[in-house]
Amino acid sequence: MIIHSVSELIGHTPMMEIHGYALPKGTRILAKLEQFNPGGSIKDRLGIKLLESALKEGKINHQTTIIEPTAGNTGIGLGLAALTYGMPTLFVVPEKFSVEKQELMRALGAQIIHTKTDEGITGAIEKAKSLQADMDNAYVPLQFENPANPLTYYETMGPEILSDLEGVNPSAVVVGAGSGGTFSGLSRYFKEQSKNIRMAVVEPVGSIIGGGKPGPHETEGIGMEFIPDFMKNEVMDAVYTISDEEAFYYTKELARRNGLFVGSSSGAAFAGAVKEAEVLPPGSTIVTIFPDGSERYLSKHIYRGEKD
Ligand code: PMP
Repeated sequence: MIIHSVSELIGHTPMMEIHGYALPKGTRILAKLEQFNPGGSIKDRLGIKLLESALKEGKINHQTTIIEPTAGNTGIGLGLAALTYGMPTLFVVPEKFSVEKQELMRALGAQIIHTKTDEGITGAIEKAKSLQADMDNAYVPLQFENPANPLTYYETMGPEILSDLEGVNPSAVVVGAGSGGTFSGLSRYFKEQSKNIRMAVVEPVGSIIGGGKPGPHETEGIGMEFIPDFMKNEVMDAVYTISDEEAFYYTKELARRNGLFVGSSSGAAFAGAVKEAEVLPPGSTIVTIFPDGSERYLSKHIYRGEKD
């Protein structure tokens, strides 16, 4: 097969059963491996959708500068999508996020502006909005407010998972939340399939979904400082608040036992799936999402611990 654009490589990622962990009898954990998207993450699906919907709604043209506050993966996804149309891109990234993701955004031609780590993603959002206000033809898709974000996962990932399962009904879908777009889209999709499918959300300690206080965490890509509107009415059948220690433990074990090079939000998602396995009857099928790969976190010593 010959393809003609990397956009043809987005989606249809593999689903892998994760073996080698003590689970109740017959229980299976299946993980959707989103690192196999061309930009290496779950957010490639979003980048193309954000630009297509803004073009369709007449909010942008091919000369528009696309500005987005991002931890990196959305920037890479938007950068890939912007190439298709030749649009310039400018990403506002809090300093703490991995340099590899920033290098990849730059490789796609993006300009990067840093905000201070302690200002969080809220500081990056404000900066993006003020940059837009100073420019003539600029647009901030703003994944945290944009209904195209959950819609992406409702339209692409939900049906893919159902088809990957080949007729097996999942008992639960366990999903990490950063913007909450993946959770919200999959929740709508699976609750339409069956009200009995449990939707469990995963966050790091330092995120507020489960009622905790906002604070720093090393698990990258998930965690909320505020609840986006599209998450406010979501049914969450369980909230798993995972420590960095546990997330990184599973990140390392997934490499060592399963040969999977996944990022720390995948380690956290797996920790959530293991906890969900403990509350479900034996023989349940649990689906989880591994949002990206570990190679973009090697400078942060993902396998040796942040403080090494
Ligand atoms: N994991 C990683 C590595 C991510 O980059 C993101 C997106 N920030 C997520 C998980 C969470 O995805 P969502 O924004 O859809 O909640």
